[in-house]
Amino acid sequence: MTDFLDYQVVVIGSGFGGQAAAINLKKQGIQDFVILERRDFAGGTWLQNRYPGAAVDVQSPLYSLSSMPYQWTQMFVTQPELAEYTQAVFNTFNLHPHVKLNQEVVDAQWHEQSQRWHITIKGCPSITARFIINATGPLSMPVIPNFPGKDNFTGTSFHTNNWPDNISLKDKKVAIIGSGASAAQVIPAIVDDVASLAVFQRSAHWIIPRPDIKFPKWAQQLLGIKWVYGLLRHAIYWGLETRVIGFKYSKRVLNLFAGAPARRQLNKQITDPELRQQLTPDFTIGCKRIILSNTYYPAMSRNHVSLFTQDNGIKQITPTGIETADGTSLALDVIIYSTGYDATDGLISYPVTGQNGQQLRHVWSDYPRAYLGTCVPDFPNYFIVTGPNTGIGHTSAIFVIEAQMHYIMQAINYVIEHNQSSIQPTKTAETRYTDMVHKEMERTVWHTGGCNSWYKSASGKVIAMFPGFSFVFKRMCKRFKLSDHNIQ
Ligand SMILES: Cc1cc2nc3c(=O)[nH]c(=O)nc-3n(C[C@H](O)[C@H](O)[C@H](O)COP(=O)(O)OP(=O)(O)OC[C@H]3O[C@@H](n4cnc5c(N)ncnc54)[C@H](O)[C@@H]3O)c2cc1C
Repeated sequence: MTDFLDYQVVVIGSGFGGQAAAINLKKQGIQDFVILERRDFAGGTWLQNRYPGAAVDVQSPLYSLSSMPYQWTQMFVTQPELAEYTQAVFNTFNLHPHVKLNQEVVDAQWHEQSQRWHITIKGCPSITARFIINATGPLSMPVIPNFPGKDNFTGTSFHTNNWPDNISLKDKKVAIIGSGASAAQVIPAIVDDVASLAVFQRSAHWIIPRPDIKFPKWAQQLLGIKWVYGLLRHAIYWGLETRVIGFKYSKRVLNLFAGAPARRQLNKQITDPELRQQLTPDFTIGCKRIILSNTYYPAMSRNHVSLFTQDNGIKQITPTGIETADGTSLALDVIIYSTGYDATDGLISYPVTGQNGQQLRHVWSDYPRAYLGTCVPDFPNYFIVTGPNTGIGHTSAIFVIEAQMHYIMQAINYVIEHNQSSIQPTKTAETRYTDMVHKEMERTVWHTGGCNSWYKSASGKVIAMFPGFSFVFKRMCKRFKLSDHNIQ
């Protein structure tokens, strides 16, 4: 017995990963669970990322939970609608009673004797749990590089992930550092407001047109019919899945379906040859996340927008702005950091101690690895949603999250139904799986495309991506292999 509040399952994080876990636990008849969320609101990515222009880049009927269709207003919806959708998920599945806010998990330790996880929460009493489902998100730890003088800036500065409510950029002199997916959404959304905009680009990204459409009322009504929604979802899914052929098997296909449209758009929308050159990536398309936008290049062509490439990058941040490598001083009111996330080495931000005092960060010191991207030998009853090599560049992350749920629920059910206390993958199974992942990765554009992306960990290995078709991953998750596990 323990003096701590004890749960059957503790879910850490309330984004789509935590929501999918909660929905599936309820479906299994498990009600004794809690969702711990460090923030003062539940919902994850789409409640946190409130920057102007924030929108999904996977078609909404696919970027949604399979058990929660929705009458979307457009194909690629913007953040406010995703936030509404998230609230609708919480309400439909009655998840709020399970959520505890302002609960940042800072430590988790497996206690062999009690066969329980002891979970330390910042400023709150510790709790125990039989199972942990970690759903802390692959892109929830924003990173700001340590630019010299960063803390001396006296104007306003923030990461896109922490966009201040009610800030006005009207007639402000603004710099944005970074030119990836978030920057490509922010820049067109603020360009009309600002007095001037300096864009600091480490490397140019490939950008393809965004095939967005608004759904008229009648189409939204059709989306309310289950089989119509299902059909559209399938069509989008299989359409996107063909992209893997390009990413992994054929550079010609990649060029035909992505490279050519990207080049066409660049050539059409950027007429200045020097700017076009600066905006042309020097790696194979697909190596970094492909950006979808029709408005980025027109925004970059505006007279009050200036582009700073690595040749003339940031020398230092000064109290009044930015000094560039060639000695130019930019006076600024606002600096926006669009500098991304720690998606690989910082995958789990708190210390996790498994059997025999093993530390997860030591096990992962070479690079993060997990059986089915979900569990690790010596860490019993610990499941990682969107763990190592579960990212997907060509389709919806929610598809992968739901695939993982097939595996997690089968593992948990097996332990409960057979009156066992713990489950973990064997070392052999985990090694076999990880070796397979990295061997398959060698063929992909993420490995061979000549770029250094956030998909790679410090080891140089691609950690963020699954190297293949998402239905293959789902099939592996569905086929629960007892012999791959140690059950106690
Ligand atoms: C700006 C942006 C755009 C994106 N666009 C797309 C897209 O178009 N298509 C796509 O497929 N994917 C996209 N993604 C990826 C996105 O992360 C996934 O689609 C999905 O939302 C992940 O859900 P999650 O629950 O795993 O993580 P999150 O939604 O990040 O939720 C994690 C939650 O865990 C909480 N948490 C973290 N650490 C702790 C802790 N120690 N204790 C307690 N709580 C904790 C966080 O506060 C957060 O609420 C995007 C991500 C970002 C940031």
